[in-house]
Amino acid sequence: MDTCDTTACQSAREIFKELEEMYDEHNLYFQTIGSVLEAADALNVPQRLKLMLTQPKNEIMVHCPVEMDDGTWKLLKAYRVQHNNVLGPYKGGIRYHPEVKLDEVKTLALLMTMKCALARLPFGGAKGALRINPRDFSKDELMRVTRRMTSALGDNIGPDYDIPAPDVGTNAQVMAWMADTYINFAESSSKVIARGVVTGKPLEFGGSAGREKATGQGLVYVLDALLPGMGIELDKVTCSLIGYGNVGSWTARLLQERGTTLRAVLDHTGAILNTSGIDAEALAAHVLATGGIKGFAGADAVDEVTFYSTPVDLFIPAALEQMVDLEHAERMQCKVLVEGANAPTTPHAERYLLDKGVEVLPAILCNAGGVTVSYFEWKQNRQSETWDEEVVDELLKKTMTRSAERVLKMSQRLDCNMRIASYASAIEHIDNVYELRGVFP
Ligand code: GLU
Repeated sequence: MDTCDTTACQSAREIFKELEEMYDEHNLYFQTIGSVLEAADALNVPQRLKLMLTQPKNEIMVHCPVEMDDGTWKLLKAYRVQHNNVLGPYKGGIRYHPEVKLDEVKTLALLMTMKCALARLPFGGAKGALRINPRDFSKDELMRVTRRMTSALGDNIGPDYDIPAPDVGTNAQVMAWMADTYINFAESSSKVIARGVVTGKPLEFGGSAGREKATGQGLVYVLDALLPGMGIELDKVTCSLIGYGNVGSWTARLLQERGTTLRAVLDHTGAILNTSGIDAEALAAHVLATGGIKGFAGADAVDEVTFYSTPVDLFIPAALEQMVDLEHAERMQCKVLVEGANAPTTPHAERYLLDKGVEVLPAILCNAGGVTVSYFEWKQNRQSETWDEEVVDELLKKTMTRSAERVLKMSQRLDCNMRIASYASAIEHIDNVYELRGVFP
């Protein structure tokens, strides 16, 4: 195996040595913490902070038995990784995916710590996962496994301690089952507050206006803040998307409202292209009815190579991690890569694109809209309030714009790319809080 000699890899190797942990350099967690440590080194923060960020506080693993509709039993594995809580309760989604692994959940939890810190939310970072393919489960089976997993997690989650939310493969209904299960175990004096154990709930049951579209909306606000400085006008640009789930479809629809042309989409069912524009609303209706973009009448089916090679201004991966690799990057013809998904770009692909002059807008900035409106939901739950969508949108815009400005300023201050700048801004905030709080006892 080649030895990686970038600053990021060297920093990660040193810290893991101190922690007496072994890591493969091709591992996503190693690579992600490497970039975080590169930012920490650029800021010259104390070694103690690097140690705190490199290792998650808690890695919880539970096995949940569930009875299927046909009477057979399954034993399912669930994870909750609580990365850091110096800024406030742990916060982050729970995903349902058949191939999920602990290191992936650790990576996503670390990114949540960075994301909440960059947005200056009073939350730490966590992530959870249940290793199932939700498409293979009936609604009743999903409800049973969700309730069982929630009870197995027990006091490891709570409105003041760790607050899950939707992620890949989960939605408002799953959150409603989680909240209901948790409320049933709560003391009678804290049942009202107990609703805030999860965010991303249905509107009728403590959810927030604007939460469903929040990640896409936040991404559009980031583009509003940053594209003018790059000489790009949102109403004149073309884009392509990977993924047409919550993040992808909302991003496409909101960009369409702003006059952007959607040229190409790729998802787990195939790829489609229409150079004169794909109707984002019609595509969302098609995906809802059929489960994927395949067979959409308003575009031509194309292969993956054509999808990646299609010239666009904005290329937006909004599906799973590490989908844009070097081979894809070599084909891509875009001005800006906008990370809608968490960690969608491999380090090699990123380096190649940056060298080519492509701007890479990092996930912890671009997709922070979801957790930001989660914070607004949690706040509404604590105050027994219901805010209008206009209020939520206005506050979201303010948070996203400020974060974008913070990243831009940091990139100028440290003369670094936007990813390192976004981590640096988050780390500087966390460092200040550790300095003030110290370590217990
Ligand atoms: N799963 C989303 C994310 O990765 C939202 C997390 C949340 O709302 O807590 O940012």
